[in-house]
Amino acid sequence: MGQGLSCVGPSREVDFFRAAQSGDADAVGSALRWDPDVLDRTTVYDRLSALHIAAANGRLEVLSMLLDRAVHPDLLNRHKQTPLMLAAMHGKIACVQKLLQAGANILMFDSLHGRTCLHYAAYYGHSDCLQAILSAANSTPVTDSWGFARFVNVRDGNGATPLHLAARQRRPQCVHILLDNGSLVSASTGGYGCPGSTPLHLAAHGGCLDCVRELLAWGADRLQRDSSGRIPFVVAQKRKHGACAALLNPSSAEPLVWPSPLKFISELNPEAKALLETALMDANRERERKILKGTAYSLPSPEHSDDEIDDHMSEEGDSDLCCICFDQACTIEVQGCGHQMCAHCTVALCCHNKPNPVSLCLAAPVCPFCRSNIAQLVVAKAKTREESDKDSISKMRKSRMSRNLSEGSSSFKGLSSAMGSLGKMAGRGLGKIADRSDMVDKP
Ligand SMILES: [Zn+2]
Ligand SMILES: [Zn+2]
Repeated sequence: MGQGLSCVGPSREVDFFRAAQSGDADAVGSALRWDPDVLDRTTVYDRLSALHIAAANGRLEVLSMLLDRAVHPDLLNRHKQTPLMLAAMHGKIACVQKLLQAGANILMFDSLHGRTCLHYAAYYGHSDCLQAILSAANSTPVTDSWGFARFVNVRDGNGATPLHLAARQRRPQCVHILLDNGSLVSASTGGYGCPGSTPLHLAAHGGCLDCVRELLAWGADRLQRDSSGRIPFVVAQKRKHGACAALLNPSSAEPLVWPSPLKFISELNPEAKALLETALMDANRERERKILKGTAYSLPSPEHSDDEIDDHMSEEGDSDLCCICFDQACTIEVQGCGHQMCAHCTVALCCHNKPNPVSLCLAAPVCPFCRSNIAQLVVAKAKTREESDKDSISKMRKSRMSRNLSEGSSSFKGLSSAMGSLGKMAGRGLGKIADRSDMVDKP
Protein backbone atom coordinates (compact mmCIF):
# COMPACT_ATOMS: atom_id res chain seq x y z
CA MET A 1 0.00 0.00 0.00
CA GLY A 2 1.73 3.16 -1.17
CA GLN A 3 2.53 5.70 1.43
CA GLY A 4 4.99 7.07 -1.12
CA LEU A 5 4.87 10.59 -2.36
CA SER A 6 4.52 10.10 -6.09
CA CYS A 7 2.13 12.40 -7.94
CA VAL A 8 2.19 15.24 -5.43
CA GLY A 9 1.25 18.79 -6.30
CA PRO A 10 3.21 22.04 -6.23
CA SER A 11 6.71 21.96 -4.87
CA ARG A 12 5.95 23.61 -1.51
CA GLU A 13 3.50 20.83 -0.76
CA VAL A 14 6.01 18.28 -1.93
CA ASP A 15 8.53 19.69 0.54
CA PHE A 16 5.94 19.66 3.30
CA PHE A 17 4.99 16.01 2.75
CA ARG A 18 8.64 14.99 2.36
CA ALA A 19 9.42 16.66 5.66
CA ALA A 20 6.55 14.79 7.33
CA GLN A 21 7.82 11.54 5.86
CA SER A 22 11.38 12.01 6.99
CA GLY A 23 10.39 13.41 10.38
CA ASP A 24 11.98 16.81 9.81
CA ALA A 25 9.94 18.79 12.33
CA ASP A 26 11.75 22.07 11.62
CA ALA A 27 10.92 21.88 7.93
CA VAL A 28 7.32 21.00 8.72
CA GLY A 29 7.16 23.98 11.09
CA SER A 30 8.52 26.45 8.56
CA ALA A 31 6.27 25.11 5.80
CA LEU A 32 3.32 25.76 8.09
CA ARG A 33 4.52 29.31 8.78
CA TRP A 34 4.76 29.97 5.05
CA ASP A 35 1.34 28.62 4.29
CA PRO A 36 -0.93 27.40 7.12
CA ASP A 37 -3.37 26.05 4.53
CA VAL A 38 -0.90 23.34 3.58
CA LEU A 39 -2.32 21.45 6.58
CA ASP A 40 -5.49 20.71 4.63
CA ARG A 41 -3.75 19.42 1.53
CA THR A 42 -3.37 15.79 0.61
CA THR A 43 -1.26 13.89 -1.88
CA VAL A 44 -2.86 13.72 -5.29
CA TYR A 45 -3.42 10.03 -5.79
CA ASP A 46 -3.73 8.38 -2.37
CA ARG A 47 -5.07 11.54 -0.76
CA LEU A 48 -2.76 11.13 2.18
CA SER A 49 -2.63 13.97 4.68
CA ALA A 50 0.59 14.90 6.43
CA LEU A 51 -0.85 13.20 9.50
CA HIS A 52 -1.20 9.92 7.56
CA ILE A 53 2.35 10.20 6.32
CA ALA A 54 3.79 10.95 9.76
CA ALA A 55 1.78 8.10 11.33
CA ALA A 56 2.77 5.52 8.71
CA ASN A 57 6.43 6.44 9.08
CA GLY A 58 6.46 6.62 12.85
CA ARG A 59 7.33 10.32 12.99
CA LEU A 60 6.10 11.08 16.48
CA GLU A 61 7.40 14.65 16.69
CA VAL A 62 5.73 15.70 13.46
CA LEU A 63 2.57 13.81 14.37
CA SER A 64 2.38 15.59 17.74
CA MET A 65 3.02 18.95 16.10
CA LEU A 66 0.15 18.40 13.68
CA LEU A 67 -2.24 17.20 16.38
CA ASP A 68 -1.30 20.25 18.50
CA ARG A 69 -2.46 22.39 15.59
CA ALA A 70 -5.89 20.84 15.89
CA VAL A 71 -5.58 18.56 12.89
CA HIS A 72 -8.41 16.06 13.23
CA PRO A 73 -7.01 12.62 14.18
CA ASP A 74 -9.49 10.75 11.97
CA LEU A 75 -8.70 12.22 8.56
CA LEU A 76 -9.45 9.78 5.74
CA ASN A 77 -7.34 8.94 2.70
CA ARG A 78 -8.50 7.56 -0.63
CA HIS A 79 -9.31 4.17 0.96
CA LYS A 80 -10.94 5.69 4.00
CA GLN A 81 -7.98 4.67 6.09
CA THR A 82 -7.29 6.74 9.18
CA PRO A 83 -3.80 7.67 10.39
CA LEU A 84 -4.38 5.20 13.24
CA MET A 85 -4.90 2.35 10.77
CA LEU A 86 -1.65 3.19 8.99
CA ALA A 87 0.29 3.44 12.24
CA ALA A 88 -1.11 0.06 13.33
CA MET A 89 -0.29 -1.44 9.92
CA HIS A 90 3.33 -0.36 10.14
CA GLY A 91 3.73 -1.13 13.82
CA LYS A 92 4.45 2.44 14.87
CA ILE A 93 3.47 2.02 18.48
CA ALA A 94 4.40 5.53 19.68
CA CYS A 95 2.20 7.06 16.99
CA VAL A 96 -0.61 4.61 17.78
CA GLN A 97 -0.47 5.69 21.42
CA LYS A 98 -0.35 9.39 20.55
CA LEU A 99 -3.32 9.11 18.19
CA LEU A 100 -5.32 7.17 20.78
CA GLN A 101 -4.55 9.87 23.36
CA ALA A 102 -5.71 12.48 20.86
CA GLY A 103 -9.05 10.69 20.72
CA ALA A 104 -8.70 8.83 17.40
CA ASN A 105 -11.78 6.71 16.74
CA ILE A 106 -10.97 3.00 16.91
CA LEU A 107 -14.22 2.02 15.24
CA MET A 108 -13.65 3.39 11.74
CA PHE A 109 -13.88 1.03 8.75
CA ASP A 110 -11.74 1.40 5.61
CA SER A 111 -13.27 1.06 2.15
CA LEU A 112 -10.85 -1.65 0.97
CA HIS A 113 -12.03 -4.57 3.10
CA GLY A 114 -14.11 -2.85 5.74
CA ARG A 115 -11.39 -3.27 8.34
CA THR A 116 -10.71 -1.43 11.58
CA CYS A 117 -7.40 -0.47 13.17
CA LEU A 118 -7.69 -3.67 15.24
CA HIS A 119 -7.79 -5.74 12.05
CA TYR A 120 -4.69 -3.93 10.80
CA ALA A 121 -2.70 -4.56 13.96
CA ALA A 122 -3.73 -8.25 13.97
CA TYR A 123 -3.11 -8.82 10.26
CA TYR A 124 0.37 -7.32 10.33
CA GLY A 125 1.20 -8.93 13.65
CA HIS A 126 1.99 -5.84 15.72
CA SER A 127 1.02 -7.18 19.11
CA ASP A 128 2.06 -4.01 20.96
CA CYS A 129 -0.25 -1.90 18.80
CA LEU A 130 -3.01 -4.48 19.18
CA GLN A 131 -2.67 -4.34 22.95
CA ALA A 132 -2.68 -0.53 22.96
CA ILE A 133 -5.88 -0.42 20.92
CA LEU A 134 -7.58 -2.98 23.16
CA SER A 135 -6.55 -1.04 26.26
CA ALA A 136 -7.95 2.13 24.72
CA ALA A 137 -11.15 0.28 23.82
CA ASN A 138 -11.72 -0.28 27.51
CA SER A 139 -11.85 3.42 28.17
CA THR A 140 -13.40 4.95 25.06
CA PRO A 141 -17.01 5.65 24.16
CA VAL A 142 -16.85 2.61 21.85
CA THR A 143 -17.24 0.39 24.84
CA ASP A 144 -20.36 2.22 25.91
CA SER A 145 -22.02 2.03 22.52
CA TRP A 146 -20.68 -1.26 21.20
CA GLY A 147 -19.43 -3.16 24.18
CA PHE A 148 -15.85 -4.40 24.50
CA ALA A 149 -16.63 -8.01 23.59
CA ARG A 150 -18.29 -6.95 20.38
CA PHE A 151 -15.38 -4.71 19.49
CA VAL A 152 -12.84 -7.51 19.98
CA ASN A 153 -14.91 -9.63 17.61
CA VAL A 154 -15.58 -6.87 15.08
CA ARG A 155 -15.95 -8.26 11.55
CA ASP A 156 -14.56 -6.87 8.32
CA GLY A 157 -16.44 -6.78 5.02
CA ASN A 158 -15.78 -10.50 4.52
CA GLY A 159 -16.83 -11.52 7.97
CA ALA A 160 -13.31 -11.92 9.34
CA THR A 161 -12.60 -11.02 12.95
CA PRO A 162 -9.13 -9.82 13.96
CA LEU A 163 -8.54 -13.35 15.29
CA HIS A 164 -9.22 -14.87 11.86
CA LEU A 165 -6.65 -12.55 10.31
CA ALA A 166 -4.02 -13.14 12.99
CA ALA A 167 -4.44 -16.92 12.68
CA ARG A 168 -4.22 -16.82 8.88
CA GLN A 169 -1.17 -14.55 8.88
CA ARG A 170 0.74 -16.66 11.40
CA ARG A 171 0.74 -14.17 14.28
CA PRO A 172 0.72 -16.28 17.44
CA GLN A 173 1.27 -13.38 19.83
CA CYS A 174 -1.70 -11.53 18.43
CA VAL A 175 -3.75 -14.73 18.53
CA HIS A 176 -2.88 -15.04 22.21
CA ILE A 177 -3.77 -11.45 23.10
CA LEU A 178 -7.05 -11.61 21.20
CA LEU A 179 -8.12 -14.86 22.85
CA ASP A 180 -7.13 -13.45 26.21
CA ASN A 181 -9.41 -10.49 25.57
CA GLY A 182 -12.45 -12.53 24.68
CA SER A 183 -12.13 -13.27 20.96
CA LEU A 184 -14.51 -16.05 19.98
CA VAL A 185 -12.37 -19.06 19.21
CA SER A 186 -14.99 -20.80 17.08
CA ALA A 187 -16.37 -17.89 15.02
CA SER A 188 -16.88 -18.70 11.33
CA THR A 189 -15.99 -16.26 8.58
CA GLY A 190 -18.43 -15.17 5.92
CA GLY A 191 -16.40 -14.90 2.74
CA TYR A 192 -12.86 -14.57 4.06
CA GLY A 193 -10.68 -17.54 3.17
CA CYS A 194 -12.93 -20.51 2.54
CA PRO A 195 -16.41 -19.53 3.69
CA GLY A 196 -17.26 -20.88 7.10
CA SER A 197 -13.62 -21.11 8.17
CA THR A 198 -12.87 -20.88 11.88
CA PRO A 199 -9.61 -19.40 13.19
CA LEU A 200 -8.37 -23.01 13.46
CA HIS A 201 -9.03 -23.62 9.74
CA LEU A 202 -7.07 -20.47 8.92
CA ALA A 203 -4.19 -21.37 11.24
CA ALA A 204 -4.12 -24.79 9.56
CA HIS A 205 -4.01 -23.07 6.19
CA GLY A 206 -1.19 -20.78 7.30
CA GLY A 207 0.66 -23.73 8.82
CA CYS A 208 1.55 -21.92 12.04
CA LEU A 209 2.08 -24.49 14.78
CA ASP A 210 2.11 -21.85 17.53
CA CYS A 211 -1.24 -20.49 16.40
CA VAL A 212 -2.73 -23.98 16.24
CA ARG A 213 -1.41 -24.68 19.73
CA GLU A 214 -2.88 -21.45 21.15
CA LEU A 215 -6.26 -22.01 19.55
CA LEU A 216 -6.48 -25.61 20.73
CA ALA A 217 -5.55 -24.54 24.26
CA TRP A 218 -8.45 -22.11 24.16
CA GLY A 219 -10.88 -24.79 23.19
CA ALA A 220 -10.98 -24.57 19.39
CA ASP A 221 -12.95 -27.52 18.05
CA ARG A 222 -11.01 -29.86 15.77
CA LEU A 223 -14.25 -31.23 14.39
CA GLN A 224 -15.90 -27.97 13.33
CA ARG A 225 -16.44 -27.94 9.55
CA ASP A 226 -16.25 -25.06 7.09
CA SER A 227 -18.95 -24.51 4.46
CA SER A 228 -17.42 -27.14 2.19
CA GLY A 229 -17.46 -29.65 5.01
CA ARG A 230 -13.75 -29.73 5.75
CA ILE A 231 -12.28 -29.96 9.23
CA PRO A 232 -9.01 -28.08 9.98
CA PHE A 233 -7.05 -31.36 9.76
CA VAL A 234 -7.97 -31.70 6.07
CA VAL A 235 -6.94 -28.11 5.38
CA ALA A 236 -3.53 -28.64 7.01
CA GLN A 237 -3.03 -31.88 5.08
CA LYS A 238 -3.91 -30.27 1.79
CA ARG A 239 -1.42 -27.45 2.45
CA LYS A 240 1.18 -30.09 3.42
CA HIS A 241 1.63 -28.70 6.95
CA GLY A 242 2.42 -32.08 8.47
CA ALA A 243 3.07 -31.06 12.07
CA CYS A 244 -0.11 -28.99 12.24
CA ALA A 245 -2.03 -31.84 10.65
CA ALA A 246 -0.73 -34.27 13.28
CA LEU A 247 -2.04 -32.07 16.11
CA LEU A 248 -5.30 -31.41 14.30
CA ASN A 249 -5.93 -35.06 13.56
CA PRO A 250 -9.11 -35.86 15.49
CA SER A 251 -7.61 -39.18 16.52
CA SER A 252 -4.61 -37.52 18.22
CA ALA A 253 -4.71 -37.06 21.99
CA GLU A 254 -6.74 -34.05 23.06
CA PRO A 255 -4.92 -31.03 24.43
CA LEU A 256 -5.57 -29.46 27.80
CA VAL A 257 -7.92 -26.52 27.44
CA TRP A 258 -8.25 -23.40 29.54
CA PRO A 259 -11.04 -23.98 31.99
CA SER A 260 -14.00 -21.72 31.36
CA PRO A 261 -11.60 -19.00 30.24
CA LEU A 262 -13.80 -15.98 30.38
CA LYS A 263 -15.28 -16.49 33.80
CA PHE A 264 -12.52 -18.09 35.72
CA ILE A 265 -9.19 -17.26 34.19
CA SER A 266 -9.86 -13.72 33.04
CA GLU A 267 -10.42 -12.60 36.62
CA LEU A 268 -7.32 -14.35 37.75
CA ASN A 269 -4.46 -12.65 39.50
CA PRO A 270 -2.11 -11.78 36.60
CA GLU A 271 1.01 -13.36 38.06
CA ALA A 272 -0.77 -16.58 38.90
CA LYS A 273 -2.27 -16.53 35.45
CA ALA A 274 1.13 -16.25 33.78
CA LEU A 275 2.36 -19.27 35.75
CA LEU A 276 -0.71 -21.29 34.83
CA GLU A 277 -0.46 -20.37 31.17
CA THR A 278 3.10 -21.57 31.08
CA ALA A 279 2.14 -24.79 32.84
CA LEU A 280 -0.69 -25.48 30.43
CA MET A 281 1.50 -24.85 27.41
CA ASP A 282 4.20 -27.11 28.90
CA ALA A 283 1.71 -29.91 29.40
CA ASN A 284 0.48 -29.53 25.85
CA ARG A 285 4.00 -29.46 24.48
CA GLU A 286 4.63 -32.75 26.23
CA ARG A 287 1.57 -34.16 24.52
CA GLU A 288 2.73 -32.78 21.17
CA ARG A 289 6.09 -34.38 21.58
CA LYS A 290 4.35 -37.73 21.97
CA ILE A 291 2.12 -37.16 18.97
CA LEU A 292 4.97 -36.06 16.75
CA LYS A 293 7.47 -38.60 18.03
CA GLY A 294 8.77 -40.75 15.24
CA THR A 295 7.25 -38.54 12.55
CA ALA A 296 9.31 -36.31 10.33
CA TYR A 297 8.03 -33.39 12.36
CA SER A 298 9.29 -34.22 15.82
CA LEU A 299 9.76 -31.12 17.94
CA PRO A 300 13.19 -30.01 19.03
CA SER A 301 14.07 -31.69 22.30
CA PRO A 302 13.10 -29.76 25.42
CA GLU A 303 15.23 -26.82 26.40
CA HIS A 304 16.08 -28.36 29.74
CA SER A 305 16.86 -31.96 30.37
CA ASP A 306 15.20 -33.51 33.38
CA ASP A 307 18.30 -32.95 35.48
CA GLU A 308 18.36 -29.28 34.70
CA ILE A 309 14.75 -28.95 35.71
CA ASP A 310 15.56 -30.59 39.01
CA ASP A 311 18.38 -28.13 39.57
CA HIS A 312 16.11 -25.27 38.76
CA MET A 313 13.57 -26.50 41.26
CA SER A 314 16.02 -26.93 44.08
CA GLU A 315 17.17 -23.35 43.54
CA GLU A 316 13.71 -22.25 44.53
CA GLY A 317 14.57 -23.32 48.05
CA ASP A 318 11.82 -21.28 49.63
CA SER A 319 8.93 -23.05 47.97
CA ASP A 320 7.64 -26.41 49.06
CA LEU A 321 7.28 -29.45 46.95
CA CYS A 322 3.82 -29.99 45.50
CA CYS A 323 1.92 -32.63 47.47
CA ILE A 324 0.08 -33.91 44.42
CA CYS A 325 2.85 -34.67 41.97
CA PHE A 326 5.91 -34.58 44.26
CA ASP A 327 7.72 -33.19 41.27
CA GLN A 328 7.36 -29.44 41.07
CA ALA A 329 7.58 -26.63 43.60
CA CYS A 330 4.35 -25.16 44.97
CA THR A 331 3.86 -21.92 43.10
CA ILE A 332 0.10 -21.45 43.32
CA GLU A 333 -1.98 -20.86 46.42
CA VAL A 334 -5.74 -21.12 46.80
CA GLN A 335 -6.88 -17.87 48.34
CA GLY A 336 -8.89 -18.38 51.47
CA CYS A 337 -7.83 -21.85 52.61
CA GLY A 338 -4.20 -21.19 51.71
CA HIS A 339 -3.51 -24.65 50.30
CA GLN A 340 -0.68 -24.76 47.81
CA MET A 341 0.21 -26.81 44.78
CA CYS A 342 2.27 -26.48 41.64
CA ALA A 343 1.01 -24.70 38.53
CA HIS A 344 0.92 -27.94 36.52
CA CYS A 345 -1.36 -29.65 39.00
CA THR A 346 -3.60 -26.57 39.27
CA VAL A 347 -4.08 -26.50 35.53
CA ALA A 348 -4.73 -30.23 35.38
CA LEU A 349 -7.22 -29.90 38.23
CA CYS A 350 -9.14 -27.08 36.58
CA CYS A 351 -9.05 -28.70 33.15
CA HIS A 352 -10.39 -31.95 34.45
CA ASN A 353 -13.95 -30.70 34.65
CA LYS A 354 -15.08 -30.18 31.10
CA PRO A 355 -18.00 -27.83 30.60
CA ASN A 356 -21.26 -29.39 29.57
CA PRO A 357 -21.28 -28.85 25.77
CA VAL A 358 -24.97 -27.92 25.78
CA SER A 359 -25.22 -25.50 28.67
CA LEU A 360 -21.50 -24.59 28.78
CA CYS A 361 -21.90 -24.76 32.53
CA LEU A 362 -18.82 -25.46 34.49
CA ALA A 363 -18.77 -26.44 38.11
CA ALA A 364 -16.35 -24.17 39.97
CA PRO A 365 -13.07 -25.98 40.58
CA VAL A 366 -12.55 -27.03 44.18
CA CYS A 367 -9.43 -27.17 46.30
CA PRO A 368 -8.20 -30.79 46.21
CA PHE A 369 -7.20 -30.62 49.88
CA CYS A 370 -10.28 -29.16 51.57
CA ARG A 371 -12.90 -29.26 48.77
CA SER A 372 -13.77 -25.57 49.18
CA ASN A 373 -14.60 -23.70 45.98
CA ILE A 374 -11.66 -21.95 44.39
CA ALA A 375 -12.59 -18.32 43.99
CA GLN A 376 -9.15 -16.95 43.34
CA LEU A 377 -5.64 -18.28 42.87
CA VAL A 378 -2.55 -16.31 43.76
CA VAL A 379 1.17 -16.88 43.55
CA ALA A 380 2.28 -18.88 46.58
CA LYS A 381 4.16 -16.80 49.08
CA ALA A 382 7.55 -18.05 50.18
CA LYS A 383 7.41 -19.39 53.71
CA THR A 384 9.58 -18.44 56.65
CA ARG A 385 11.89 -21.16 57.87
CA GLU A 386 9.80 -21.81 60.97
CA GLU A 387 6.70 -22.38 58.91
CA SER A 388 8.46 -24.66 56.49
CA ASP A 389 9.93 -26.58 59.43
CA LYS A 390 6.46 -27.35 60.67
CA ASP A 391 5.42 -27.99 57.15
CA SER A 392 7.90 -30.67 56.36
CA ILE A 393 6.30 -32.74 59.12
CA SER A 394 2.75 -32.08 58.08
CA LYS A 395 3.81 -32.64 54.52
CA MET A 396 4.72 -36.23 55.23
CA ARG A 397 1.22 -36.69 56.58
CA LYS A 398 -0.36 -34.84 53.75
CA SER A 399 1.51 -36.81 51.16
CA ARG A 400 0.17 -39.99 52.65
CA MET A 401 -3.28 -38.47 52.61
CA SER A 402 -3.02 -37.39 49.00
CA ARG A 403 -1.93 -40.82 47.94
CA ASN A 404 -4.99 -42.25 49.61
CA LEU A 405 -7.08 -39.63 47.90
CA SER A 406 -5.62 -40.50 44.56
CA GLU A 407 -7.15 -43.91 44.84
CA GLY A 408 -10.58 -42.72 45.87
CA SER A 409 -11.23 -39.24 44.56
CA SER A 410 -12.19 -38.78 40.96
CA SER A 411 -10.60 -35.39 40.76
CA PHE A 412 -7.29 -36.89 41.75
CA LYS A 413 -7.71 -39.67 39.28
CA GLY A 414 -8.28 -37.07 36.61
CA LEU A 415 -5.31 -35.17 37.80
CA SER A 416 -2.94 -38.04 37.74
CA SER A 417 -4.07 -39.17 34.34
CA ALA A 418 -3.80 -35.64 33.06
CA MET A 419 -0.32 -35.31 34.43
CA GLY A 420 0.32 -38.75 33.12
CA SER A 421 3.24 -39.58 35.34
CA LEU A 422 2.18 -40.00 38.93
CA GLY A 423 4.09 -43.23 39.32
CA LYS A 424 7.32 -41.71 38.18
CA MET A 425 6.75 -38.67 40.34
CA ALA A 426 5.92 -40.52 43.52
CA GLY A 427 9.29 -42.24 43.51
CA ARG A 428 11.15 -39.02 42.93
CA GLY A 429 9.05 -37.11 45.39
CA LEU A 430 10.06 -39.25 48.32
CA GLY A 431 13.71 -38.59 47.55
CA LYS A 432 12.99 -34.91 47.44
CA ILE A 433 11.32 -34.83 50.81
CA ALA A 434 14.32 -36.53 52.39
CA ASP A 435 16.57 -33.91 50.81
CA ARG A 436 14.41 -31.18 52.23
CA SER A 437 14.61 -32.26 55.80
CA ASP A 438 18.41 -32.17 55.50
CA MET A 439 18.21 -28.67 54.18
CA VAL A 440 16.13 -27.44 57.04
CA ASP A 441 18.86 -28.23 59.53
CA LYS A 442 21.46 -26.18 57.75
CA PRO A 443 22.27 -22.81 59.28
ZN1 LIG B 1 2.08 -30.73 41.37
ZN1 LIG C 1 -7.98 -25.84 50.47
